[in-house]
Amino acid sequence: MPHPIVRFAPSPTGRIHIGNARTALLNFLYAKKYHGEFILRFDDTDVERSREEFAQAIEVDLAWLGIVPDAVLRQSGRFPLYRAAAKSLREAGRLYPCFETAEELDRKRKRQQARGLPPVYDRAALALSGPERARLESDGRRPHWRFILDHEIVRWTDLARGDSHIDCASLSDPVLLREDGTYLYTLPSVVDDIEQKITHIIRGEDHVTNTAVQMQLFEVLAGPGRLPFFAHHNLLASVGGEALSKRSGALSIGALRDSGIESLAVAAAAVMTGSSVALHPVGSLDELAASLDLGELSRTVARFDPAELAALSARTLHGLSFEAVRERLKAYDIAGHKAKPFWLATRGNLSAFLEVVDWWRVVAGEIAPVVEDAEFLAAARENMPGEPWDETVWANWTKALKDATGRKGRALFHPLRLALTGRDNGPELAALLPLIGKTKAAARLSGRAA
Ligand code: GLU
Repeated sequence: MPHPIVRFAPSPTGRIHIGNARTALLNFLYAKKYHGEFILRFDDTDVERSREEFAQAIEVDLAWLGIVPDAVLRQSGRFPLYRAAAKSLREAGRLYPCFETAEELDRKRKRQQARGLPPVYDRAALALSGPERARLESDGRRPHWRFILDHEIVRWTDLARGDSHIDCASLSDPVLLREDGTYLYTLPSVVDDIEQKITHIIRGEDHVTNTAVQMQLFEVLAGPGRLPFFAHHNLLASVGGEALSKRSGALSIGALRDSGIESLAVAAAAVMTGSSVALHPVGSLDELAASLDLGELSRTVARFDPAELAALSARTLHGLSFEAVRERLKAYDIAGHKAKPFWLATRGNLSAFLEVVDWWRVVAGEIAPVVEDAEFLAAARENMPGEPWDETVWANWTKALKDATGRKGRALFHPLRLALTGRDNGPELAALLPLIGKTKAAARLSGRAA
């Protein structure tokens, strides 16, 4: 297969949510798996609603997920191309001016519905005579422009949904240009897909109907045989079943990040939810890409459960290699020869990454020990094994202490844990003790902060 070129085309009208991340990831991972290119293309032709700060925030959110685009484009800088395409559609006789107001169209639809007809635009504007059109124009009416659809059944083999078809006779001719001269999404999208040689269009199933329209536009603008592949993935909804929206901010990537969820867990959940693959942690985006199969996506809307995501995030942390987190640890000054054994000792106990800061204080900083039973701790101090302290220290020490005091189980271990770590649960002491070291341990057993 030639290298794919894919694109993610968000409108910068809000922060992206988990459903948008699903689209972005399916594209990015597809490109990664097949050594292709991923283009981030801002669909910002609606200059009223688009905001540069949202575009920047989307880039930040994608970067956090590990998505680094090969190119970033803005459609707002490409209007001459869209004008040229509109001109060639007009010349091909496929674009026609319409003068109905929104209210007139609404009345038409209501009449059709009352008669049990589908609310499809009746092409009345095509039947306008020259003088009628001139009169409308002299009344100050400005036209919007519709693309004449071929009334055929458009078919394609969808990489996610299999054989698909849409009967274009059941659709209204789509408006490509508004009366104020601005473009709706349909035409710029096709113009750019052609110009950027997009090979695979992977997007939500809310675009299935657009695909039939856009396939006809491809044929007119690029000529036959230039169609990309299409894949329409199922959408994600909230646990309550509501559609996700950029405006509500629910399940936004920014909010998930701020809540301490692992980005890899978000990526895994965004891709695996609503597929035949059970939710499971992965060690890297490469691993996620290698197992990607668009055919595994299911056909129905999938509910996204934040509680499952939190659990997945913890499981993801438990399996992350030291190499995967080395830089993140460094950002909290967790570095040096202790950093790797520290990570391996603590990762299995974390529910959020930031907890490492507290555990690092336990092994390398100062904590206030909790002294429950000073007498027992004195005995523990007397029975401390000599240095060097390695992972056998804990077993040898507790055995000696058991023999000396007759204690066992919780009565033996719990006071030690409280004194040595200041907490009543946490990672295996066998792994922590070599990191805490004998000096600190002795001080804590005496009740001194160390
Ligand atoms: N801006 C559109 C959306 O976010 C892009 C759709 C497409 O990928 O063509 O739904």
